[in-house]
Amino acid sequence: MSPTAVHSMKGAKDPPSKLDFTTFHNVINGKLVPTKKTRHGINPATLEALPEVPVSTPEDVDAAMDAGKAAFKLWRNTPWNERSKAVNAFAEALLEHKAEFAKLLTKEQGKPIPMAENEVDTAYTFLTTFASLQLQEEVMAEDDKKQTIVRYTPLGIVVGIVPWNFPIMLACGKLAPALLTGNSIVIKPSPFTPYCDMKLVELGQRFFPAGVLQILSGDDELGPWLTAHPAPAKISFTGSSATGKKVMESAAKTLKRVTLELGGKDPAIICSDVDIASVAPQIATMAFLNSGQVCLAIKRIYVHAAIYDEFRDAVAAHTRKLVLGNGEAAGVFMGPVQNKMQYEKVSEFFSDVEARKMKIVAGGEAPPADPAKQGGYYIKPTIIDAPPDNSRIAMEEPFGPIVPMMKWDSEEDVIARANDTQMGLGASVWSKDLDQAARIARQLEAGSVWVNTHLEVDPMAPFGGHKESGVGFEFGLGGLKQFCNTQALYMKKKA
Ligand code: NAD
Repeated sequence: MSPTAVHSMKGAKDPPSKLDFTTFHNVINGKLVPTKKTRHGINPATLEALPEVPVSTPEDVDAAMDAGKAAFKLWRNTPWNERSKAVNAFAEALLEHKAEFAKLLTKEQGKPIPMAENEVDTAYTFLTTFASLQLQEEVMAEDDKKQTIVRYTPLGIVVGIVPWNFPIMLACGKLAPALLTGNSIVIKPSPFTPYCDMKLVELGQRFFPAGVLQILSGDDELGPWLTAHPAPAKISFTGSSATGKKVMESAAKTLKRVTLELGGKDPAIICSDVDIASVAPQIATMAFLNSGQVCLAIKRIYVHAAIYDEFRDAVAAHTRKLVLGNGEAAGVFMGPVQNKMQYEKVSEFFSDVEARKMKIVAGGEAPPADPAKQGGYYIKPTIIDAPPDNSRIAMEEPFGPIVPMMKWDSEEDVIARANDTQMGLGASVWSKDLDQAARIARQLEAGSVWVNTHLEVDPMAPFGGHKESGVGFEFGLGGLKQFCNTQALYMKKKA
């Protein structure tokens, strides 16, 4: 370890045997490490300050990189089944602490407790599903003189950059494949939601050798320091398309590998034959889940002209029933949006709707400029009726609870409009006629396309975006390969 890196381990201590959900530290080389400077997050439902968390310095980054490099040498040679056992044991421990993690997640992120519990369950499924997989060497050709083998070797240190909408699930979706394939990983949580990720990595110290799984919390400078640092071999990034471009640019300087899971503007195409009473509530739910802060949420609703009015009214009626409130209270469907920046960003869409005099069919009251007036970052779920295709709400991702509904009458037209965007994350088609649905679905430009559902992901299927929604993909055996170098090994049987 360099002298500066050693210095930044000052005050380091071993993780206690019991997780304490009120104090938060960086985890570097197996130790809980404080920083001189600290900052704190805000509970979006109450605007109360949450506990202090570290603000890492470049020296902390160096210390984590030194430890990650040393740990990689050991971990890459640890047999796959031991790495897989460690990931499974970690998954079980996470599940044992489900209630505490869910409570903390609701406090920092804002989602209702049942959805926070669901996030822990999904993270568990990711961890155990990935741990059930194994990359094998593949024999590509063989005769009595030679054998050609394809091998998958780990990359080195991976940096996992996580956004604020699903901090537990998305951190687990990165750390499991990275660790199973023999890499070490440094997690960088969003400054808006560092708490659960810090406890997650602290918990991991029970199962992984020092330096294999680390976390650095910080402010807006930390991400760029990590992507520019020469040590990491890969950046696994989930966040907005705008930041993804910066990450790729920075990573290019040292030719780091990147996986970029970015923004979306998912269309849902509703055909004329759907059962309105059952489909309309599903559409509202999948548009407003997590207050619309889901990369794969429905963000444009295209409804066939023959049923437009009736379908719109049914979605609006269901939307009005969705309970908005503090996620800690029972019966709440959606909490506040997660942070001030997001609150202001979504508010701009309301201003544009108002300025352009668009029609609102549910919700619609612009949130007050000062969120303190309502005690939190609350925004009512809102549907905009038939906005112009070139309006902001029809084209951009608000990442909040405001969704446009538009009319279509020819398949060709709706497919062209659904594809007329730089985003390509998800898309869905809803119809009783599976031939029609499949015909439309196969023409949609998106990484995940559904018929008669949306948002459902299978950890065995590749998950990624087309166009500006991403580069590379995660999940399944292919996702594991994205954390590896490929090697062709040519074996001549006689020297
Ligand atoms: P964001 O891009 O602002 O931040 C994501 C992460 O990147 C945070 O940890 C942030 O601190 C870090 N970061 C910011 N600037 C950086 C830089 N220059 N270099 C390195 N790291 C930097 O995104 P967000 O607002 O946290 O998340 C919302 C966005 O994420 C939405 O667009 C949403 O659609 C997208 N998202 C995509 C997926 C997916 O799997 N495709 C999943 C969830 C969210």
